[in-house]
Amino acid sequence: MSSTLFVHLDKLGHNLKVIESYLGKDVKRMAVIKDEAYGHGLIPVANYLENKVDWFCVAELEEAIRLRKAGIEKPILVFEIPPIGEEQAYKEYNITATIADISVFKRLLPGTKCHFNFDTGMGRLGMLPSEADEVLRKMDEFPDLNYTGVYTHFANADGNDEPTVDQQINRFLQIREKLPKDLMTHTCNSAGILYHSQKNYFDAVRIGVALYGYAPGDKTNTGLEAIIEWKSHLVQVKKICKGDTVGYGSRWRAPEDGWLGIVPIGYSDGVFRGLSGKIEVEIGENIFPQVGTISMDYMAVYLGENKFQEGTEVTILKNGNLSANKWAMLAGTIPYEITTVIAPKVKRVYLGDQ
Ligand SMILES: *Cc1c(COP(=O)(O)O)cnc(C)c1O
Repeated sequence: MSSTLFVHLDKLGHNLKVIESYLGKDVKRMAVIKDEAYGHGLIPVANYLENKVDWFCVAELEEAIRLRKAGIEKPILVFEIPPIGEEQAYKEYNITATIADISVFKRLLPGTKCHFNFDTGMGRLGMLPSEADEVLRKMDEFPDLNYTGVYTHFANADGNDEPTVDQQINRFLQIREKLPKDLMTHTCNSAGILYHSQKNYFDAVRIGVALYGYAPGDKTNTGLEAIIEWKSHLVQVKKICKGDTVGYGSRWRAPEDGWLGIVPIGYSDGVFRGLSGKIEVEIGENIFPQVGTISMDYMAVYLGENKFQEGTEVTILKNGNLSANKWAMLAGTIPYEITTVIAPKVKRVYLGDQ
């Protein structure tokens, strides 16, 4: 085993509580666990949250079916446009479909639960505000569908003074007025909750990245904690002399005589090659620099004067200073991308599940 991703489920519970402190008591919590719960593992995360949230949301029907087969009973909303030919699965497994396109009405089976998704400015999935009247006509034409909700998604919720959120809300409210009053209404992702007012929460919020411990945008001191620790070990420790080079391209040169540690993790595990020479690892209580180009299965760490034993534990990601937030900053991306690309081959071990 070259590395292990430890997932602290108790911290997931902690992060949910942090988010709940923002919510009024009547706001339903929809946990977004798409894409293997952002890389943490779909089923274990769902099992842990099953009695702690009101809904689950996933990107694809296939993920929802896996949840049902694993015994998950909470309502599940699927964001994608229902795959053609698989409409019956929504009914069979009691899964809520998204109508994000007018063409979906005629395909769903009578009795299928569905939420409307309106594109109020995200420019991704969703029906346009100008299609609201057409939606009303389709509801008359297909009265046997079980219309239960309506939502939209923000493009820029990760700042306090972002006018597009208000623009999107205004467009959404105009649509909302035309629709039946009893539809469950939801707009906020994690950023919407953390940065915007409670009046945007409506009936439910869709909590994604915050569950896993990351605040979108620049917000710090949220109390959210990264739930993963990614650990490996030194497979080789060797002498390196001043001026010796390390890795493809010989891009790093030892500044002094010292020790070099080899860690069996590389970009095939999900450590971007673009992070070469930028990240740090923790061994014992101390921090050491990763040096040289990260290769497919290995990376090197400069240990200075420390001749550690082979087999010594090396932590590459954890809460705090070595978090996916830090990597994201160094790589010019967002923590979502860091955790979702941790390779399936990296063994997940779940801790703290009571
Ligand atoms: C992914 C997603 C979310 C969750 O977003 P976070 O930023 O992770 O909280 C909510 N709604 C929709 C439609 C999504 O695709």
